[in-house]
Amino acid sequence: MKNHQPKNQPLGGNVHPRFSGPGTFMRLPSTDDLKGLDVAFLGIPMDIGTSWRSGTRFGPKQIRAESNMLRPYNMWTKAAPFDHLNCADIGDIAINTFDLKDTVIRIASFYEDLLKYPLVPMAMGGDHTLTLPILRSIKKKYGPVALIHIDAHADINDEMFGEKIAHGTPFRRAYEEGLIDPNLVYQIGVRGTGYSARDFDEARDWGFKVIQAEEIWHKSLLPLGERVKNDLRHSPVYISFDIDSLDPAYAPGTGTPEIGGLTTPQAIELIRSLSGLNIVGCDLVEVSPPYDPSGNTALTAANILYEMLCILPNVESK
Ligand code: MN
Ligand code: MN
Repeated sequence: MKNHQPKNQPLGGNVHPRFSGPGTFMRLPSTDDLKGLDVAFLGIPMDIGTSWRSGTRFGPKQIRAESNMLRPYNMWTKAAPFDHLNCADIGDIAINTFDLKDTVIRIASFYEDLLKYPLVPMAMGGDHTLTLPILRSIKKKYGPVALIHIDAHADINDEMFGEKIAHGTPFRRAYEEGLIDPNLVYQIGVRGTGYSARDFDEARDWGFKVIQAEEIWHKSLLPLGERVKNDLRHSPVYISFDIDSLDPAYAPGTGTPEIGGLTTPQAIELIRSLSGLNIVGCDLVEVSPPYDPSGNTALTAANILYEMLCILPNVESK
């Protein structure tokens, strides 16, 4: 444990009604002082990398709003993240909504400052373009990392409409740039229709383990989680969770929905089974509130972020 100072706590629902008070993630304190933080929640409100429906610029705001119902203790795993980790919401990165390339530079530069501190950044997106600049900064600190990428899409296009930077290209760029160790990459939940029958196989040739959704239909994800954990246990690990990995029945509020996806319990099982890995950063992307009339997608995203918080190093569980 890094320090014994009192830890930041989410504002309790018996202190201030949950429908009021601060609009931060889980109603944690808001700060721009990174000293002493173990975990920094932040928003990256962007949708200019999307190719179909937009709206993810409103993702962080809505995930924060729905997170206000979350309580601090995990009733199944017994994880008590706020007993052990000093957490805060550090606000949003000021992206340039008129320029995707400049936005990518802004995200990388923000992360380089952030990663001068010994903390785990947990980003709320935003479209999936944002993972590329994050991985660029993560590599400068940790070297090439292991990656757990949970998504309906492989996001390994070479170009989209002639552009190298877009929400469907980050993991090809990450592979080309050596930001990730290709033999320590799991892509989980990919499915649907492709541009060619080999769309998922190219990454397999690079070394990625690609688990198509059909392989895990109707199954517990605990065995897969155990396999992932065993394979990645010696490396720093980054987790990128695209909410469209879930079936649109569970998470309709997203830009490029694909039928036949993960269930909510499968997503929770998968995240919980990764406890014990050396996780150095996480993101939760592609929540599009305009397509989420019930708020359920943002609520699910907030809970998945919480589950990721509960498996970070130093969080004690039973
Ligand atoms: Mn994606
Ligand atoms: Mn996707």
